[in-house]
Formats: sequence, structure tokens, C-alpha cells
Amino acid sequence: MMRVFGIVGHPVEHTRSPVMMRAAFESRGVDAAYVPFDVKPGELREAVRGIRVLGVSGFNVTVPHKIDVMDMLDEIDEHAKLVGAVNTVWRHKDQLRGTNTDAHGFVAALIEGGCTVEGARVLVLGAGGAARAAVRGALVAKAASVVVAARRIEAAQELVRAFGERVKGVALNELATVFPKTDILVQATSATLHAKEGGALVESLPLERLPENCVVNDLVYVPRETPLLNAAKAHGLKTIDGTGMLVHQGAMAFEKWTSEPAPIGVMREALEKTL
Ligand code: NDP
Repeated sequence: MMRVFGIVGHPVEHTRSPVMMRAAFESRGVDAAYVPFDVKPGELREAVRGIRVLGVSGFNVTVPHKIDVMDMLDEIDEHAKLVGAVNTVWRHKDQLRGTNTDAHGFVAALIEGGCTVEGARVLVLGAGGAARAAVRGALVAKAASVVVAARRIEAAQELVRAFGERVKGVALNELATVFPKTDILVQATSATLHAKEGGALVESLPLERLPENCVVNDLVYVPRETPLLNAAKAHGLKTIDGTGMLVHQGAMAFEKWTSEPAPIGVMREALEKTL
């Protein structure tokens, strides 16, 4: 019988996950559909009830529901608890269980890009959901240090409280002293989604103070060449875009749902056609 999967978010019409996941199911011969579910804020509980009743086999969760959905599931694993958000749900008998595959996706993308996370000094810009996943991923991958820089220092401190003393929080205007001690710079704000806002953020960054072997990773993948990645390239730095994280978080969800190895190349190709 055909199984049904989907993605719950608002808005969802621009999400790349359906193209990527459908290509993965087709490539592995899994009889499954993957449907975007546009669920407005305030309607999530009702939607999750519907998903239970209709027997949907699993779903991804995206903005703005990754935190709120946690209250509506039967079980949440340690990854999701530490990240503080769920992005993947699967059905176990009559239960809905949640995890977070973004931290795995983040680290897998860096490794794929030829970057060594173990022992690296990681600096994360931003303190939202993507930043939390990056911090969790960096800690699991044994980074030497993790610093979070946010425009609201209290948001950075909240991450320090959540992850403990291996993480330090700084304000964005303190970067001149942190940049020279950075091996991997992770852009995890939503600013670089927009040319003007991203441009202003990049203008404020002292990129010339980064070591010449520093790798710059922007988690934003639309546009793929963000203002930060362009500026980093102009400074001669190695860059990694946000597509790898998207592919690898999706690959881990696929494996959770199907117990089959994910066809990562197929998923990447399908995603790249949409960019
Ligand atoms: P959130 O809304 O949870 O967090 C956004 C963060 O960006 C907040 O810390 C916010 O600060 C900060 N921010 C926004 N604008 C600026 C600015 N101009 N200057 C400084 N900081 C700013 O979003 P997510 O963390 O879920 O997602 C962030 C981005 O990461 C998304 O836009 C998405 O494109 C990308 N992403 C990519 C993934 C991938 O697989 N590649 C996975 C998940 C996300 P404040 O709290 O002060 O507003």
C-alpha cells in the first residue's frame, strides 16, 4: 500500500523538500507520496490530529512549527530535546515520535565540503533554530570551541544556558576579536535570504580578520550564492553553501522512515534543479 509522508509548515509552497524526497522514494522504488501541508500558526494541533487519524507515515516540520510541534508528539529523542526543535516525525505503532536531523545535516555537509569539524574553532552567527542545530552538531562532532554571536546578546546567552559551558556567547559588535580565532564561520541568521539585509550584515563583518584557511558556511540556500559567500570568496576564503545541510537532513529523515540508505546524489541533483 502506498505510504504518505509530507512537510508541515507555513508557507510551504517554496519548500524544496517535496522534489528532493519524491526523487529519493522513486530512486529506491519506495511506494510513497510526499505532500506539502500548509498549516497556519494556531492550526497545528488540529493538523497533527488529522495526520494521526489519516495514518500519515511520517512528516518533516519547518518554519514556524518546529518548536510548537514538540508538545503534540508522544516521544521526542535526545537530539531534538537538545536542539530544542523537531524537524522529523515518524510513526511507531500508534505513536508519533520526533527527532531533529538538522544537526546531523550541518556536520555531514561540512565533512562533504572537505572541512574537519573535530578540533575546529566554530563561530555561529545567529541564535534561532538553525543556529541551535549548528551548535549541537559542532559539539557532537567535537569542535574545540563554539562561539555564538547574535544581535541580541540575551539570545546568544540563552544558547549558552541551553548547551553549557563549552559554548560562549558574544554580541555581533565583538566579532573583531573572535574572527582571528575562527576556523569555521557559520552564517545561521535569516538575514542573507534578502539581498539588502544580508548585504548590510556582511558589510558589518570584519572578514579581513578571518584566518586565510577559515571556511565560511552559509546555511541559507536561497539564494545559493548569498552576499556572505560572495564576499568570503572575494577575500579568498573557502565557502560551503546551505544545500548540503538540506540534502543531508533530508537523507537522515528518509533513512528513519524507510530503513533504506538515502540516495544522496539523486536528492542533491533533484534539489539543484530547483535552484
Ligand atoms: P529563526 O527565525 O529561528 O532565527 C533567525 C535568526 O536570525 C535569529 O537569531 C534572528 O535574530 C537572526 N537575524 C535575522 N535577521 C538578522 C539580521 N539582519 N542581523 C542579525 N541577525 C539576524 O530562523 P532559523 O534559525 O530556523 O533559520 C535561519 C535560516 O537558516 C533560514 O533563513 C534558512 O534559510 C536557513 N536554514 C537552512 C537549513 C538548511 O538545511 N540549509 C535548515 C534550517 C534553516 P533575532 O532573534 O534578533 O530576530
